[in-house]
Amino acid sequence: MSQPDTNDTLFERARAVIPGGVNSPVRAFRAVGGTPRFIRRAQGAYMWDAAERRYIDYIGSWGPMILGHGHPAVVEAVQSAVGEGFSFGAPTEREIELAEAILTLMPSMEMVRLVSSGTEAAMSALRLARGATGRKVIVKFEGCYHGHADALLVKAGSGLATFGNPTSAGVPPEVVQHTLVLRYNDIAQLEEAFATQGQDIACVMIEAIAGNMNFVRASQAFAQRCRELCTQHGALLVFDEVMTGFRVGLTGAQGVLGITPDLTVLGKVIGGGMPLAAFGGPRDIMEQLAPLGPVYQAGTLSGNPVATACGLATLREIAKPGFYATLAARTRKLVAGLKSAADQEGVPFSVDSEGGMFGFFLLDQLPQDYGSVMKSDGARFNTLFHGLLDRGVYIAPALYEAGFVSAAHSDEDVAATVEAAHEVFKELGR
Ligand code: PLP
Repeated sequence: MSQPDTNDTLFERARAVIPGGVNSPVRAFRAVGGTPRFIRRAQGAYMWDAAERRYIDYIGSWGPMILGHGHPAVVEAVQSAVGEGFSFGAPTEREIELAEAILTLMPSMEMVRLVSSGTEAAMSALRLARGATGRKVIVKFEGCYHGHADALLVKAGSGLATFGNPTSAGVPPEVVQHTLVLRYNDIAQLEEAFATQGQDIACVMIEAIAGNMNFVRASQAFAQRCRELCTQHGALLVFDEVMTGFRVGLTGAQGVLGITPDLTVLGKVIGGGMPLAAFGGPRDIMEQLAPLGPVYQAGTLSGNPVATACGLATLREIAKPGFYATLAARTRKLVAGLKSAADQEGVPFSVDSEGGMFGFFLLDQLPQDYGSVMKSDGARFNTLFHGLLDRGVYIAPALYEAGFVSAAHSDEDVAATVEAAHEVFKELGR
């Protein structure tokens, strides 16, 4: 009799003590079926599961691992920080250094506050926007994810904009009654929202290159209109760059689009794989935060000394000349290779990428909004996902997630990935 796979055994154990066996839902492979891989270790572009199978990793911890796993300079910085102490609950010089590094790289911010997760950063930016404007209504877009704070965990029904249609049980309608959810890239709907309730809108929060409905760009015209309407009506424009910050380029999606938001939310890459996130903006708005102002925000582990060491070491590497040009070229090579392989096998396929972030759809054309993303064929995606996984290529286990290339991915890794995908496309094209 064959031995059970170690991943199966671990999954069974995990499910007995952790809901669904995972500490974040998408890790459970529910969308694609099968057993999640329990990762034992990772190095460079690779991860090894509990059965010692190796995968080329295109998830990169859902974005943070832009240098690949175990980059020597980062490991050294973390090891040295650990020796000095894990957490003090008091200010450290390293927090200043990280804040200075972030502000130098992202000129739209004059001040920044460090927190421990993207959820916390987005939630705090929202409170700040409401506190600074004295208004209640927030605008978000269907398909954009801003973490799991109650007020932001709302999706729209199709058709007209809807108020307060909670995605999760446990979010009372009253809590989301001021959250207005609009269609991504729909200028007319945005204009209508401002025309009818512009004086009540505290902020528009957007993933300007959305990575939580796979990969969908805000059009230049749409992003520009967000900026103009916020300015006209005294609302704040908040770019959630938890995923895109230091990922699509050194100045994030705001640099790509050439648009300056009022507030920026960061996470993932700035922690280099440690729990660290941030939000920042102009001094007059940021000084509304406690202890200076009336908007309360706090955290026992905020600005953690080990996390800040990891983040700083990561930022030093990515700020080196040519880093993004090389990363973007490698990512483009990957998506072009995938596209060409799909075309050869007659599989409908569209791709896009920016910096080290990419997305692909089993559709002829790139979708512009969440509704079109959802027209993707889930069953075919699952075949692709498992076909790649069986061949040692690890992409996100759901079709509405973006992918990530790191500086550790080599041309050989890209070629091996394209070859694996080509084999699966042959199956899909039949
Ligand atoms: N905002 C965006 C754009 C994200 O992609 C995520 C997480 O994927 C979050 C916020 C939430 O960040 P975290 O998972 O660190 O709470």
